[in-house]
Amino acid sequence: MGGKINIAIDGHSSCGKGTLAKNLAKSLHYLFIDSGAMYRAVTLYLIRNQINLDEVKQNPNLLDDIHISFQFDEDEGFYFTMLNGENVETLIRGMEISKRVSEVSAVKEIREFLVRQQQKMGKDKGVVMDGRDIGTVVFPDAELKIFMTADARVRAQRRYLELQEKGIPADFEDILKNIQDRDLLDSTRENSPLIQAPDAIVLNNTDMTRDEQARIALTWAKGVILSA
Ligand code: C5P
Repeated sequence: MGGKINIAIDGHSSCGKGTLAKNLAKSLHYLFIDSGAMYRAVTLYLIRNQINLDEVKQNPNLLDDIHISFQFDEDEGFYFTMLNGENVETLIRGMEISKRVSEVSAVKEIREFLVRQQQKMGKDKGVVMDGRDIGTVVFPDAELKIFMTADARVRAQRRYLELQEKGIPADFEDILKNIQDRDLLDSTRENSPLIQAPDAIVLNNTDMTRDEQARIALTWAKGVILSA
């Protein structure tokens, strides 16, 4: 009774999975892991090192030089993504990476490389991980699976404001198109497409505030933890 669980949060691009995952992790004193940041960091690494996807497919060992970790900043209450010891948090959120990441994440060898690491991170339970394939591939046995979605224009508006707040240049139509493109690519790719796990609970937050969605999900999580 009351043991630790893993929580998988999947869903469409920019619908607040990360925010919800962070809130849950904080309330439950669990570890938060942003799996999308890992795909973004790999994308940045490949661009910087001018490695194309065919080279990776032929020689997956090229990926072994990529070391991704997360660092928690107590003051900011924020997680930074580290790539080979460098804080790349701001760089990986820009549009250049957003435009390239879905083609990178469609490569089987890259998924296998990251899924292995994600599964290790969750082996002792007590993890909240958000992504596209967490409830289906990474943690198919997760005790709680949430599938999030929201209207695409609402998602684009939220992302636009978020980028503006961070001082990252943004254009609304560009963001909307990127969200729609990523939804399509992520849902139709051959390897681990974005699909709702049969045992996932749907959370459509189009008309919800962050606080409302956090409260609902925390109630679900506490219910599952009590019976775990
Ligand atoms: O979550 P975020 O939007 O930052 O993820 C960036 C991209 O990484 C997604 O559009 C998707 O292509 C890919 N991704 C994935 N599997 C995950 C997490 C992210 O394919 N578990």
